[in-house]
Amino acid sequence: MKLYVSADMEGTAAVASWTQVDPANTTEYPYYRRLMSREVRAAIDGARAAGATDVLVNDSHSSMRNVLWDELPSDVRMIYGNRKPFSMTQGVDATFAAAFFTGYHAGVGVQDGVLDHTYTSETLYNTRVNGVVCNEAILNAAVLGTHGVPVILMTGDRAAIEQTQAVLPWMTGVVVKESIGRFATNSVAPERACELIRSAASTAIERRASAQPFVFEPPIVLELDFVQTHNADFAELIPGFERTGGRSVRFVHDDFRTLFKAYHAAFRLAGAANAHV
Ligand SMILES: [Zn+2]
Repeated sequence: MKLYVSADMEGTAAVASWTQVDPANTTEYPYYRRLMSREVRAAIDGARAAGATDVLVNDSHSSMRNVLWDELPSDVRMIYGNRKPFSMTQGVDATFAAAFFTGYHAGVGVQDGVLDHTYTSETLYNTRVNGVVCNEAILNAAVLGTHGVPVILMTGDRAAIEQTQAVLPWMTGVVVKESIGRFATNSVAPERACELIRSAASTAIERRASAQPFVFEPPIVLELDFVQTHNADFAELIPGFERTGGRSVRFVHDDFRTLFKAYHAAFRLAGAANAHV
């Protein structure tokens, strides 16, 4: 049984600031990347205790070079580095039985979501698909859904878990911390978080038959609100994108994987417009 693990960092127990998850930071980040790595390890150990065999980890945070190899079992594979066309869902295909999202966070605009954002809070104000306000977990689950792969476990802060379970009710959630606004948490100890994750990972694998791949029904409508008008000025240059407002664009496609890549193209181009003029 093959398991896919997309590993983000903001939803790791105890994490409460950008410096802790910034690979350029030399004081706090080295410690917190180890905590992130241990949570990934705990998820893998729990899954294997319940029958998972092959594991592919996709490092999904920032530079996408965070998880420490020496914290992982020697027989897992890991996708490392960024500029991946499918980003946080790179490498998934129909041979995987299920997926875990570890260290995930709430979407931009969610109250009491630690470090809330959706891919980039500097550029994107809101992301909706078929009218559903999306966080990264929901968007990524829909990519996995095109391969028939269900997301069965997510770990993170309470706001992130609740926002995602409202759309993916079959998913087992592990709440490792409560948020106090955007930059503070009341967290379980890292060691306790690993125990909770290990146990929930086993349960999620055992219950996987009740989980469903998540899909958006075509025609799929992507609506983006950007932070500034200049972001939308750039995004509307992409063929197929329609300007719908001062800060807003719309894109419609029947294939979610195409739409997901168009989404990344749009916010990356829109982000380039943030350069000073
Ligand atoms: Zn991240």
